[in-house]
Amino acid sequence: MSVIMVHGGVETSTAPPYIKVLRESALAGLNALSSGHLKAAEEAVRVLENSPLFNAGYGSVLNLDGQVEMDASVMDGETGRFGAVAAVRDVSNPVSVACRVLEETPHVLLAGDGAIKFARSRGFPPANCVTPEMMEMWRKAVSLAGRGEAAGVNLFTGMPEERGQACDTVGCVVSHRGRLAAASSTGGSFLKLPGRVGDTPVIGGGIFASRRCAVVCTGLGEAFIETLTAKYVDSLIAHGRHPQEAAEKAMVRLAGSRRAPGGIIVADSRGRWGSAYNTRTFPVALVVDGKLVEDFTPRKIQGWKSSLPKGPTP
Ligand code: ASP
Repeated sequence: MSVIMVHGGVETSTAPPYIKVLRESALAGLNALSSGHLKAAEEAVRVLENSPLFNAGYGSVLNLDGQVEMDASVMDGETGRFGAVAAVRDVSNPVSVACRVLEETPHVLLAGDGAIKFARSRGFPPANCVTPEMMEMWRKAVSLAGRGEAAGVNLFTGMPEERGQACDTVGCVVSHRGRLAAASSTGGSFLKLPGRVGDTPVIGGGIFASRRCAVVCTGLGEAFIETLTAKYVDSLIAHGRHPQEAAEKAMVRLAGSRRAPGGIIVADSRGRWGSAYNTRTFPVALVVDGKLVEDFTPRKIQGWKSSLPKGPTP
């Protein structure tokens, strides 16, 4: 039994080009399964990082200084090993740097300049992650803020609210012959303070994997960290809940305690899966036993109202 589930982040467009890349990502994970469950999760996320459509790798949102600072992590449920990078710059595939942290160092998390230095030492070349479109969004937002006007952009996508959904954090969970892995990557939130780190590289907050399940979250990172949501999902499954029920309960808990936007995907060691979100959209692709599940859609949690302001002001 194998399950590969990938997501493109909350508030991400569900237009065909986005779904196409998500499906390619899930199938890239499938192709890599022969190299192991962790490799499959890494390869799936790399496809999304390489696409300018998503807020990860090339195409990430910019921080207040107009720079891309990215977070990424991987966790192997079989061994309990975790690897992550935070506030890393100028690398195409932070998820692969996180894998090297897990595999080749005694550490679990490298940040900032140290993470960049480590990436170079492992052969990751300097790479531009700033797309012209994101630079344009940043210039507009900063100039509006200079005039005392709200930026009017989506916190996660960096795109104007009136254009609807665009792009966001990416993640993958893999269950293969009872072995579990999770991987996640993000540019974080638009106009964040330089050095801000979200939940993506925070074990138990935005990501978790055990011998029971693999969980990846997306949304308002600070809320996921403070509520240890990924670990909460694992605890529910440990107490016998189905992954779908666990994902929904965790979203209801997050919305109740923090009124925060978000989404969760989870797969368990029995080859079951779950997904839930409370935003306008949350595109997810699912491959089960080698086959794409064409009509899969994640479960939307209704009756929730965000406490976030319309758009961040730098
Ligand atoms: N959770 C990410 C962060 O706060 C953003 C996202 O997933 O939308 O950095």
